[in-house]
Amino acid sequence: MPSPLVRISDERLRDAAVELWLKRDDVIHPELVGNKWRKLKHNLTEAARQGHGTLLTFGGAYSNHLRAVAAAGSLFGFATIGIVRGEQHLPLNPVLRFATERGMRIQYLDRTAFRSKDDPELVAGLHRDWGDFYLLPEGGSNALAVRGCAEIPGEIGPDFDLICCPVGTGGTLAGIAGGLHPGQGAIGFSVLKGAEYLNDEVKRLQQAEFGGSRGTWHIEFGFHFGGYAKTKPELDDFVSWFAEQHGMQLDRVYVAKMMFGIYALAERGSFAPGTRIVAVVTG
Ligand SMILES: *Cc1c(COP(=O)(O)O)cnc(C)c1O
Repeated sequence: MPSPLVRISDERLRDAAVELWLKRDDVIHPELVGNKWRKLKHNLTEAARQGHGTLLTFGGAYSNHLRAVAAAGSLFGFATIGIVRGEQHLPLNPVLRFATERGMRIQYLDRTAFRSKDDPELVAGLHRDWGDFYLLPEGGSNALAVRGCAEIPGEIGPDFDLICCPVGTGGTLAGIAGGLHPGQGAIGFSVLKGAEYLNDEVKRLQQAEFGGSRGTWHIEFGFHFGGYAKTKPELDDFVSWFAEQHGMQLDRVYVAKMMFGIYALAERGSFAPGTRIVAVVTG
């Protein structure tokens, strides 16, 4: 840390008269990548301070967050429990196999019960089954996660106009917007379809960490390509084009949708000529 900040140049960016830099959070750690590390960092300190030896969290079977919690547990000496939505499917998918190999114990919860994961009754039941634990919400977004992500603009510095990130639960954007320098703005790109509730969620997370709204930010909702983990031929073509131009394979679930969006907005003339943009490569 800090993760590298590198400029990329190509004909499309030149024609659109913008400068684009990548904040390479994807290279922070081989097993605990990007924003998941930033979101966990202060939570791990807090869990240790409160004397907890176990972390428990929730996620879908393909959740990067579950994977990151399992990795963090084995790296920093916490036992981990993953409450996974749905039923067990064997063989385990790569995420759950990795998590199990790192010592995470998995409990499956049917979709209906999973929906009430914030219900105190359900949490009390989990304490009866599993004993003491430090609870991390699904996706890892809480006030301490926002605090970790608010450190990103400080590493980038004041010489940029816009900081962009993908949005899943909104914790990363809430933090980035909270850490901006004067005159800077933040744009989040939703990877979920029909997710306008994220505006309120970012506000709620900022309220929890900062006690109010912070920074100039908005979310773009037009680049979800059908929804979470969905893709379309234009997105696949963009990923191939980008790999050829810049020798870098973009993560399709999150990062590629943001990058597609940045190029599209630039070519639509949404940014003033000379705008200096940083895209946070979250994973
Ligand atoms: C989880 C994740 C996100 C989403 O971050 P939120 O804080 O949930 O909005 C973005 N990019 C990558 C690579 C992720 O794994």
